[in-house]
Amino acid sequence: MSGNRRPAPEFPAWPQYDDAEREGLIRALEQGQWWRIGGSEVDTFEEEFAAYHGAERALAVTNGTHALELALQVLGVGPGSEVIVPAFTFISSSQAAQRLGAVAVPVDVAPETYCLDVAAAAEAVTPRTRAIMPVHMAGHFADMDALDKLSADTGIPVVQDAAHAHGAQWRGKRAGALGSIAAFSFQNGKLMTAGEGGAVTFPDNASYEEAFLRHSCGRPQTDRRYFHRTSGSNFRLNEFSASVLRAQLARLDGQIATREERAALLRRLLADIPGVVPQGRDERADRVPHYMAMFRVPGIGEDRRNALVDDLVARGLPAFVVFRAVYRSDGFWETGAPDTTVDELARRNPVSEALTADGIWLHHRTLLAGERQIHDIAEILADALAAL
Ligand SMILES: *Cc1c(COP(=O)(O)O)cnc(C)c1O
Repeated sequence: MSGNRRPAPEFPAWPQYDDAEREGLIRALEQGQWWRIGGSEVDTFEEEFAAYHGAERALAVTNGTHALELALQVLGVGPGSEVIVPAFTFISSSQAAQRLGAVAVPVDVAPETYCLDVAAAAEAVTPRTRAIMPVHMAGHFADMDALDKLSADTGIPVVQDAAHAHGAQWRGKRAGALGSIAAFSFQNGKLMTAGEGGAVTFPDNASYEEAFLRHSCGRPQTDRRYFHRTSGSNFRLNEFSASVLRAQLARLDGQIATREERAALLRRLLADIPGVVPQGRDERADRVPHYMAMFRVPGIGEDRRNALVDDLVARGLPAFVVFRAVYRSDGFWETGAPDTTVDELARRNPVSEALTADGIWLHHRTLLAGERQIHDIAEILADALAAL
């Protein structure tokens, strides 16, 4: 290693916590009831989370993958149906549909935002399509206006994978206020976390009530006779996690404000580096929480991209390769895959293919650092690219 490298920049730790989480955990402990049916932390968190996101109701669940499964199940997704998902996403988006016995149909993403290409989604609609799932990649949105129109024209509901979109706004509206069901994750790396956890927001009370039954073995909250009204499973969140999430939610606005400032600076600096193209922003997204700082090095090729990421990590950046197009994992083909081939899907999803080979992301804790560290990131990336 060369001796004249700049020192590794210091970034804030993640997750973050203080006395609010500490007090919440003690509060949950001392309630003496640690599941949601006996305690009040989950109930209160759901009210706070729904209000924050402009939703009629919110239901806390065990994790974001279960949140997506539950959301799809409430819409009637099951064997014989198809769900349109972006080809470029974390595998939970397609797995949720597949676990319900449905077929996940990957379509390409837009080259600027890396979010669902709505025209491609429209072309993939069949009589079996039961849901369209945009993923708010890194906190950015697909064209939600065009999606609304597609949904109205076809009668097919939208389910938002909002695992990256806590506090995100599309033309002034948060995910819960956009008229469709949205699924969130509170896994350790997400923008608010209890290590694991998830939530589903609903635009109406009836779908919440159905989801409540299905997330609690089909059993109404007050049942004492073991009469299970629907099929279901146990996706209930515990009281400790909810107490932590209440503290995390209270901290979110301040963190988003910092990340918005730092992301704007980073974007300018990255765009000045030859060969680097940062993720684009649709200006109708008036608040982006920046779950990841994503960029591409178009044409770099997968092997050199991987080597670049290794070098960035060695130089002290929390850098990662982006998700692989879902159909490029063996697990995608085990159950609920469309009747086609990897090669055919690769041909139909050129942007997802390109991203799989040339995309890089930085952890959002980099965007909670000072401006100095943002300059460091750009300088380190320029150095590493020059050295490649
Ligand atoms: C994290 C994530 C999920 C799943 O969330 P878990 O809580 O880890 O189950 C779903 N979709 C996307 C896009 C994610 O990044």
